[in-house]
Amino acid sequence: MIVQAPLRLGLTGGIGSGKSTVAGLLGQHGSMVVDADAISRSLTAPGGLAIPEIIQVFGAGFVTQDGRLDRDRMRALAFTDRSAKKRLEAILHPMVGTEIARQTNQVLGSGCLCLVYDIPLLVESNHWRRRVDKVLVVDCSPEIQIKRVQARNGLAAAAVEGIIASQASRQARLQAADYVICNASISLAELQAQVSQLWHWLGLSSRLDPASETDPRNSV
Ligand code: ADP
Repeated sequence: MIVQAPLRLGLTGGIGSGKSTVAGLLGQHGSMVVDADAISRSLTAPGGLAIPEIIQVFGAGFVTQDGRLDRDRMRALAFTDRSAKKRLEAILHPMVGTEIARQTNQVLGSGCLCLVYDIPLLVESNHWRRRVDKVLVVDCSPEIQIKRVQARNGLAAAAVEGIIASQASRQARLQAADYVICNASISLAELQAQVSQLWHWLGLSSRLDPASETDPRNSV
């Protein structure tokens, strides 16, 4: 039996754009989602693979009592020492890359239709851009991003603005996009419909699709 390679779909969007929601909806269609943020969090959690090197490079003071990366302390350092972020990334990025490759290899040959790469630095990174077939951007205005993140995390508007400023610009993301979902003035049900439409455009609905009501195989 020949198993078709999955479509590799890079997914990106600013904080609060609805990227995780879209990843979840793509998952309902049978995609596997590789989540770089989640991998990074697990590497810096208690017992995480990156913890020994973080202690070696930054000192034990950058790890909390329960053994996780002290993000507040790291943020404070990065504020005064511009190289700190780069040094942390030099530890984490290769480890994230290894884990992404491991998860990818697990999925290849499984018959999965679509591998979604939820990678925050997708737009900035040629390395990841070259490894995906298509780029999907979830887009909305900064005003909506701020409202959503405030409702979700209770963050102050200024804090959300700071995060938005630290991410790729809206324009850079849109320029990198093969597909854009405008998740602005639409309901979650409409967003779900847009993801189903995209699934169809990607040519995936004619294959086995758990979320499709019109799977041709069901109508035979
Ligand atoms: P991101 O992963 O881009 O930071 P999320 O997918 O977590 O964003 O979405 C941020 C918040 O906005 C979540 O609470 C989500 O349920 C909500 N949300 C996203 N899209 C919509 C929408 N179209 N209508 C209503 N709420 C939405």
